[in-house]
Amino acid sequence: MSTTVVWFRTDLRTIDHEPLLKAVSSRQPVRAVYCHEQRFQLKNEFGFLKQRKFRESFIRESLDDLKSQLQEAGIPLDELFGDAADEMAKYAKLHHVTKLYYHDIEGTEERAVEKSVRHNLPTIEIESFIGDHLIHPDDLSFPLNELPKTFTPFRKEVEKQLLVHPAYPAIAHFTKPDTHSKNNWSHEPPSGFRGGTRVGLARLHDFTFGTRAIDSYKETRNGLIAWNDSTKLSPYLSLGCLSPRMIYWHVKRYEKEYSANQSTYWVVFELLWRDYFKLVQRQHKKKIFGSTGLNGRRISTRRDPVDFAKWAEGRTGAPLVDAAMRELKTTGFMSNRCRQNAASYLVHDLNLDWRLGAAWFESWLIDYDTASNYGNWMYVAGVGNDPRAGRKFNVTKQGLDYDRQGDYARLWIPELADKAGDEIYSGLVYY
Ligand SMILES: Cc1cc2nc3c(=O)[nH]c(=O)nc-3n(C[C@H](O)[C@H](O)[C@H](O)COP(=O)(O)OP(=O)(O)OC[C@H]3O[C@@H](n4cnc5c(N)ncnc54)[C@H](O)[C@@H]3O)c2cc1C
Repeated sequence: MSTTVVWFRTDLRTIDHEPLLKAVSSRQPVRAVYCHEQRFQLKNEFGFLKQRKFRESFIRESLDDLKSQLQEAGIPLDELFGDAADEMAKYAKLHHVTKLYYHDIEGTEERAVEKSVRHNLPTIEIESFIGDHLIHPDDLSFPLNELPKTFTPFRKEVEKQLLVHPAYPAIAHFTKPDTHSKNNWSHEPPSGFRGGTRVGLARLHDFTFGTRAIDSYKETRNGLIAWNDSTKLSPYLSLGCLSPRMIYWHVKRYEKEYSANQSTYWVVFELLWRDYFKLVQRQHKKKIFGSTGLNGRRISTRRDPVDFAKWAEGRTGAPLVDAAMRELKTTGFMSNRCRQNAASYLVHDLNLDWRLGAAWFESWLIDYDTASNYGNWMYVAGVGNDPRAGRKFNVTKQGLDYDRQGDYARLWIPELADKAGDEIYSGLVYY
C-alpha cells in the first residue's frame, strides 16, 4: 500500500508542523522518519567534531518525545543511520512511499542533502515547507534581496504590521506541558537542558505563567548565572521542539491575561533577531562562512594553535572569557552576554580567524543554529552587513559591569575561589 512520509530534521515537534498536517490529510498511511546523518559524526574543516554529547543527548530525548507524540496519532517514527539520500531511497522502496513532505533547512550542507534525497527519489511527490521563521518569508513586504542591511530598519519595517500566522494545530492531544517532570526549571542549571516538546512547553509555561520571570526579562536578560535571567528556549528552537510562532502566541496570551510591558515585548524583539539572521542566511547562503563575510572586509585569518587553545580551554587570563569558555565545555551553554565577550576576545584581542571561534561554538553549543551562530559571529567580527568595523568589548569592564561580585568567575574557575570580584577583574590576578 502507498505510504506518505514526513521527514523530520530540526523540527522535532508535532504542533505547528505543516508537512505533518499535509501528510495526515493525504488519505494514505503516514510514517515519519528521522535520519542520524553520518556527517554529524565527522570533524569540520578546523578539526572539531561537528556535534558533541550535549546536543546528541538533547536530540535523543527530543526524538523519544516526538516518537510518543506521533504514536498517539498512530504514526510510527523510524530512525535511519548513515547517508540520508541512500537510506531514504531504501526506506522509500521498503514502504512503497509515494509522497514525502518536510521542512526545508537553509544551509549549504542541508540543501545538498535535500538535493540528493530528491535526486534519489525521482518518482515520488516531494514538497517542502518553511517552518522555522516567526514571520513567513513570503509575508515580508520586501523581496529577500532588499533585506535591510541592519537589524533596526528590518525590525521597524516588519513591526509596522507584524504578521505572525497562528501555529498549526497539533495532530494529537498530547500537548499538556510536562509540568510534573522532575525538572524544577527555576533552579535547574543549564546542564539540565532536557530535550522534547513537552519539556520545552513546560519551560515556556514556567518562564511566563509559572514564575512570571518574563515580566522582568529586559532587566535580567544579561545575567550570567540565574536560570530565569533569560528564557533558555534556544535549544528547543534550534531543534524545533518549539516553533517561534508557538512562543509568540504563548507570549501574546500571557500579555492578554496579565499585562504587556517592555520585557514581554523584548522576548519577541529577540525572536525577530533570530528571524533576521535566518533571512540573512537565506539571502547570502554560503557567504556567511567566508572570512570576509558579507561586506568583503579583510580581517585576520591567523590560526595560531596555542592562542586558540588558551581561548577554547578557558586559559586566557581574562576571567570573564575563561569562565564562559569553561561553562561552554561543561554544559554546552553560555549566556548571550558571555558569547559576545568570548567572541570579541577571540577576534579583537587574540586577533584570530573568527571562523575558528564560530566552528568551536558550532561544535559545543547545545542550541547551535547556523544562522544565529554565524550571523552573530560576523556581527562581532565586523564582516556582516553592518558598516561598523566590529564590536570590541572591554572584557574587564564587562566583568565588572555584569559580574561585580565575581560569582560567575568563581563558579567556573576554581583557582579564583578565594578572590573577591574587584580583585578578579582588576587585571592583576593570575591563575
Ligand atoms: C557569538 C554568538 C554566537 C551565538 N550562537 C547562537 C547559536 O548557535 N544558536 C542560538 O540559538 N543563538 C546563538 N546566539 C544568540 C544568543 O546568544 C542565544 O540565542 C541566547 O543566548 C540563548 O539563550 P536564551 O534562549 O535564554 O535567550 P533569550 O535571551 O531568552 O532570547 C529568546 C530567544 O531569542 C533568540 N535570540 C536571542 N538573542 C539572539 C541573538 N543575538 N541572535 C539570534 N537570536 C537570538 C533565541 O532564539 C533565544 O532563544 C549567539 C550569540 C553570539 C553573540
